[in-house]
Amino acid sequence: MDCPFCGKEMKEGRIPSGDRWVEDGQDAWEGIPLTTGLLGKVPKSFYCPDCRQIVLPVPEKAGFMEAVQQKIDAASEKIETAQKQWETRRNQTKAQKQKKEFGSKDPWEL
Ligand SMILES: [Zn+2]
Repeated sequence: MDCPFCGKEMKEGRIPSGDRWVEDGQDAWEGIPLTTGLLGKVPKSFYCPDCRQIVLPVPEKAGFMEAVQQKIDAASEKIETAQKQWETRRNQTKAQKQKKEFGSKDPWEL
């Protein structure tokens, strides 16, 4: 990336300690997350040593809480699918059992 101030090539790096950008007057938790994923992966930022400026692109992917929510959603979806599979299987065995019972019933016994 070229420096928006002087146009020179910027150095690529990252800021491992900052996890969000907080506007003046806002509380820290209201800030814009700068990390992605559950592990708080830090995206690349760009530094111009001549201008002493850092450009830090805000990741499009979700921040920590959003990532947690996504994980939870994915997990509950899996559970739902597993539950449905189990129900189908249970209904199948039930149907088979009923068939068997019907077949083995003494025809004279009413
Ligand atoms: Zn510059």
